[in-house]
Amino acid sequence: MKVIVAVKRVVDYNVKIRVKPDHTGVETTNVKMSMNPFDEIAVEEAIRLQESGKVEEVIAVSCGISQCQETIRTALAMGADRGILVECDVELQPLAVAKLLKAIVQNENPEIVIVGKQAIDDDSNQTGQMLAALLGWSQGTFASQIVLGEDSAKVTREVDGGLETVNLNIPAVFTTDLRLNEPRYASLPNIMKAKKKPIDILTPEQLGVDITPRLTTLRVNEPPVRQAGVMVESVTELVDKLKNEAKVI
Ligand code: AMP
Repeated sequence: MKVIVAVKRVVDYNVKIRVKPDHTGVETTNVKMSMNPFDEIAVEEAIRLQESGKVEEVIAVSCGISQCQETIRTALAMGADRGILVECDVELQPLAVAKLLKAIVQNENPEIVIVGKQAIDDDSNQTGQMLAALLGWSQGTFASQIVLGEDSAKVTREVDGGLETVNLNIPAVFTTDLRLNEPRYASLPNIMKAKKKPIDILTPEQLGVDITPRLTTLRVNEPPVRQAGVMVESVTELVDKLKNEAKVI
């Protein structure tokens, strides 16, 4: 079995996001970039499936600028076998990424694609679902456990009310939730080995995919500054403030 994992290069989750002065987006120059945390979980899951003997090859795919190769190298250092970069300079929206991944799936014929449940920069939570729809494959989203059988998979999903377990036919797309696993750190020898692993570079044109954006960002704003709290002396004072100052009751 072959698995494709999608890895997106995003602003590191520890970085304090700054909005650009012209409000067209967030500052990414001189900002630490890393693999989307949910994609680290996706890579870890693919590698664990390989270690359990159920999967032969793990391919890490990233779409975006040339620097996304660093993100692919991280996946290779964790244990993926090879990488594919779909290189382009324009902003990629989830539908475009889903179409690019579909084209790669058609070239590579994997049985499973694992993507993050959402990218922490756009918070779209769309790519995995769109990809499954475009391919006509089963989807197991928000997975907190994946048990792989011969031609089916049992996926435990994190839903609002608790956990839901579904049985899916393979081929399938899985999207990872936080509790699926704890991603490993790449060891130094594996980081060195990853430098020798191959990364193919393709373009959207070679894959025959139109990546024209369908959505326009009108304006990006900082969240409103949180007001300082106050200590109240009594419940009566609290109720009075909620009623007359906050006007919420
Ligand atoms: P989103 O739908 O944008 O929240 O992204 C969900 C998941 O799709 C991410 O966690 C990635 O696994 C994958 N993905 C989105 N954009 C890209 C990209 N440019 N390159 C590779 N994978 C991506």
